Order: sequence, then C-alpha cells, then structure tokens
Amino acid sequence: MPPVCTRFAPSPTGFLHIGNARTALFSFLFVRQQNGRFLLRIDDTDRQRSSQEYLDDIFRSLQWLHLDWDEKPSFQGERLSVYREKIEELLRADKAYRCVCTREGLEVKRKAALAAGKKPIYDRTCRNHPPEINEKTSFTIRFKAPNEGETAIEDLIKGKVVFQNQELDDLIILRSDGMPTYNFCSVVDDASMNITHIIRGDDHLANTPRQVLLFQALGAPLPIFAHLPLIFGPDRTPLSKRHGVTSVRSYREMGYLPEALVNFLVRLGWSSGDQEIFTREELISDFRLEDVGKSAGVFNAEKLLWLNAHYIKERPLPQLAEEVRPFIEEKGYTLNGDSIWLEKMVATLQPRAKTLVELVNTAHYYLSNDIPMDPKARAKFLTPDIQPVLSNLRARLAQLQTWELTAIQGAFEKVMGESHLALGKIAQPVRVALTGGTASPGIFEVMEVLGRDCTLSRLDQALTLVGESS
Ligand code: GLU
Repeated sequence: MPPVCTRFAPSPTGFLHIGNARTALFSFLFVRQQNGRFLLRIDDTDRQRSSQEYLDDIFRSLQWLHLDWDEKPSFQGERLSVYREKIEELLRADKAYRCVCTREGLEVKRKAALAAGKKPIYDRTCRNHPPEINEKTSFTIRFKAPNEGETAIEDLIKGKVVFQNQELDDLIILRSDGMPTYNFCSVVDDASMNITHIIRGDDHLANTPRQVLLFQALGAPLPIFAHLPLIFGPDRTPLSKRHGVTSVRSYREMGYLPEALVNFLVRLGWSSGDQEIFTREELISDFRLEDVGKSAGVFNAEKLLWLNAHYIKERPLPQLAEEVRPFIEEKGYTLNGDSIWLEKMVATLQPRAKTLVELVNTAHYYLSNDIPMDPKARAKFLTPDIQPVLSNLRARLAQLQTWELTAIQGAFEKVMGESHLALGKIAQPVRVALTGGTASPGIFEVMEVLGRDCTLSRLDQALTLVGESS
C-alpha cells in the first residue's frame, strides 16, 4: 500500500462552508492517525466565480481550525497546460473526441428527451459521425464513456455503490473556451498527487463513476472513496443559508472558539460511545472513517453554544484574554488597562460566557463609563433608605489601604454589621450603581476590576440619584 494521502479541494467561490470544513476535518483526522499527508488543492478553474477574498478566507479558516496541511497548496489554475496535455493523450488514444454540437442544439435534444420521459444524456452524434474541424470551428472535447456494463465502487462509508454505464454521459472534459472541466482536472490531479483516499461530501457521489472511468482511461490506480453524508438543518434538508449562518468565518466573528467548532463538527456524523467532548489527541487516535454514519448529522445550534461555553470555561485565562481583545476593539472600546487588568476582567465573565461576543457585550460596564441604568432596577434598589448604607460603604472603601478582594470584602462586612443588613441587601444596590443592572459577577470582583476611582465615582452618582428620588 502506498503511504496514505488525502486532499481537501475547495473552490474559492464562497466563504468556507462549515460542511466543507467538516470534510476537511475528517480528512485531516484520518490522515494524521495514519501518519499520512494532507494536501490542500485549490479548485480555481471557474475564474468568474473565484476570488482572492474567498481564497484568503479558505486559508484563514483552515488555519483558525488548526487543520494544517502538508506541503505548498496547489492551484488548478496553474496547471492548465498539464490538463490540456492529458486531453491530447486521450484524443490520441481515441478515448476522447471533439464535439461541435451547439449549446442550442443540445438544449433542443435535451427538452425532447425529457418530453419523451427519457434521461437527457448526450446522443453521441459527434462520436458516431466525427465532424470536420478547422481553426475556426468551435468545439468541446468529450470523454468516450463505455455505453454498457457497470462501474462500481467500494465506498468506505456507503459500502458498494453500482452505477450503470449507460446512464453516464460522454462527459465534456474541455469546454469550447479552452477550459478543462472539474471532473477531469480533479482526476488528473488526484492521480499525479498520488491521492490514496478521496474524502468528500456525498453531493459528489454522482461524479464518482465518471471519475473512476477517467482514472481507468488515464491508466492511474483508483483511490479509495469515502462519501460523507451532508449536514442537515433542523428541517432535515441540506444545511444552507436558509437555516442561518453557514460559513466558518461567521462563527469566528460571532465569538466561537475553533476547538468548539471542531468538536461540534466531528460529532455531525461520527460518534464514539457517549463521549461528547474530545481533545484533539483523542480525535486523532479515536476517529474512524468506517464509523461515520450513513445518515446525515443534524445541525443543533444549542449544542454548539453549549460546547463553546465549555471551551471558554476551560480556556487558560491569558489565552482567553488575548482572544477577547480583538472583539473589544471591534466594538469600538479603547482598552485603558494592561493585560493583567484584561485578564482580571475576563476572569469574572469567563464562567458564564457562551461566546466571546456575548462576553464583551456583558463587559460594557467595565469598558465604558457611559452605562445605561435599568429603570426598574433603579426604582427597586436605589431607594432613599439605602442612602446611609451606600454613604457608609463609600467612606470605608475610600479609606482602604489596598484595593483588593479581601479588603473590599472587609469594608462590606463592617457596613453589614453596622446596618444589620444581609450582604444581598447591600450588594444589589451597589451592583445597580456599578453596572446599571441586577446581574453581574460577584460584586467584590466587579469592584476590584473597576478600581477604586471608578467605584467611588459610580457610588457618588448613585447617591445623587437616590437623593433625587427621595
Ligand atoms: N472543488 C470541489 C468542491 O469544492 C472538490 C470536490 C472533490 O473533493 O472532489 O466541491
């Protein structure tokens, strides 16, 4: 057996779809386990629909997911002469032919076949009656497919799949504009890259018998195929924009961690007992292509959110803080504190955050002095009777030698003792004063992060409000 080699072959015609990312992930895990090579091939022969922006997005998204490929990526657009040479070879071997049928003529035949209840496949006019060609003739080149027999594959996931050759067209391998087509380029590349396993979505299954025939015509060994069931939306139709965001980039921008997305994607179609959380090492050692189910995984946004919260909670603080930083900047806040301050702030929000965006949204009162006050919370907690308590607390906080948790807690305890109030009765008005609302991390932590000046000035503002309402 040659060394295992797979490839991921995206077309840069859109932002990387999470379904394609899952294909890349399965290929990657399989190959890493087998100590093989994982190659990246860019299928960019569709020049009109391909763009640099989409290409950059593919690289960035794969890197973000840590799906590192081996060797330099190859670009089909740079290999056109290779494909054309191979087409010449097929022509010389009488395995391909020129076809001058016009698009309009083919369309008429197609409609007639459909009207007669037949499958609209090319009637092979130019194969049976080779046309005269001169420099001015516009032609395509078609592959001579066998018109009888069957083509079968042993798919690693689907098992044996048999196709009737008479159902297959004489495929166009070179368009009249001189561009070779996907099926042909893909086979030439898979053969020259020594790909041993083609792992891709089962939307490509119909292409597979055509590609098998092309491998045979080119005298290349057949790779093993594994067609992955597509990801479905909750309504059991293939996941698409109708179901919401589908690009890897959107999830990155919404504040998901790559590990969460990887863990989520791997479970769409694959399982290992009841285990839900997998480290990368576990995935590489436990993943089996043969264990991928035949039926599609259903996209469950709640589960992805749950996984993300898990990975946020597990993240080492310095790393999480650095990951949060761009989201803070993106929201237009200026970070005044240093990295230590940022870590302290993030630490208070880490246990409950479901996404990095959500974390930054809940951090508003740390990052801005312009904090909206919830009118209901104000009416309920910033009442005249709390004024002496807040004043007392303010005075004690102002006198603290150091500004850290135990000192702050000590000030609270003194006020509790003097006012005979339970912590909650004091903490809630303070929380409203400092954060504008009634939900926040522990109040001592919040104060420590805000710092003394900010805490005192917000307490002063609250005292003014209390005065106004009395
Ligand atoms: N460029 C094709 C796609 O993005 C590749 C399919 C394949 O893996 O052969 O769907």
